[in-house]
Amino acid sequence: MSRRRFSGDTLVIASHNAGKVREIGDLIAPFKVRAVSAGELGLPEPEETGDTFIANAELKALAAAQAAQLPALADDSGMAVDALDGAPGIYSARWAGASKDFSKAMDKVWRAVEDRIGKKEWGAEPPFGAQFVCALSLAWPDGHVESFEGIIQGRLVWPPRGLHGFGYDPMFLPQTKDGETRTFGEMPAAEKHAISHRALAFRQLIDACFS
Ligand code: IMP
Repeated sequence: MSRRRFSGDTLVIASHNAGKVREIGDLIAPFKVRAVSAGELGLPEPEETGDTFIANAELKALAAAQAAQLPALADDSGMAVDALDGAPGIYSARWAGASKDFSKAMDKVWRAVEDRIGKKEWGAEPPFGAQFVCALSLAWPDGHVESFEGIIQGRLVWPPRGLHGFGYDPMFLPQTKDGETRTFGEMPAAEKHAISHRALAFRQLIDACFS
C-alpha cells in the first residue's frame, strides 16, 4: 500500500490532553518537525462519535487539519479490560468524568472487575488481562488521512502504583519478554516510550510517512 508522506515543517498535535501532547511531542522530537498543539492554536475539540479507536483518531485529525490548514496528527487511545469485554475502551477518557479524575476512573474499573468476577475466584495473582490501544491518524487539509494502530498487552494491578505517565498508567502492568514488574506509572517516560502502544503505532507512522 502506498502511503502519503509528510513533507512540511509544522505538524498540529490534534489533542487537548496534556499527557498525550507531551508523549507525542517527545516521540516526534527527533524528526525535526515543529509540533504545535490544538490547544495552542485554540482549535475546537470535536465530539468523538466514532465506534472504533481509528474512527475517532481520523475524525480528530481531519477536524484539526481542516481548521488549521496544516497536517495534523491525532491519537485516540484507551485501556480495554478483558473481564469487562473491552471496556472502558473508546470510552476511557469519559470514565474519568468531567473533572478528568483518573483515580476515580481507575477505581471504577477495579470495582467493575470485582462486580464481574467474584473475589473467591481470583487466587493470589488475579489474571486480569488488559490492553492499551493507540490509533494514530495523520490527516492533511485536503481530507487525505493515514492511520496506524499499536497494542500492548498487560494486566491490571490493584492498588495503583507510581506517579509517572497519565490516565490509567498506575494500574497497568505491561507484559514484556523479560517479565516487567513495574506499572507504566512506575516507569520513567523514556522506558514507557520504548514499549508503549503509542510508540508501537508511532513506529509504523514514522516508517510509512516520515522516513
Ligand atoms: P481519548 O483518546 O482522548 O478518547 O482518551 C483516551 C484516554 O485513554 C486517556 O484520557 C487516558 O485515560 C487513556 N489512555 C490512553 N493512553 C494512555 C496511556 O498511555 N496511559 C494511560 N492511559 C491512557
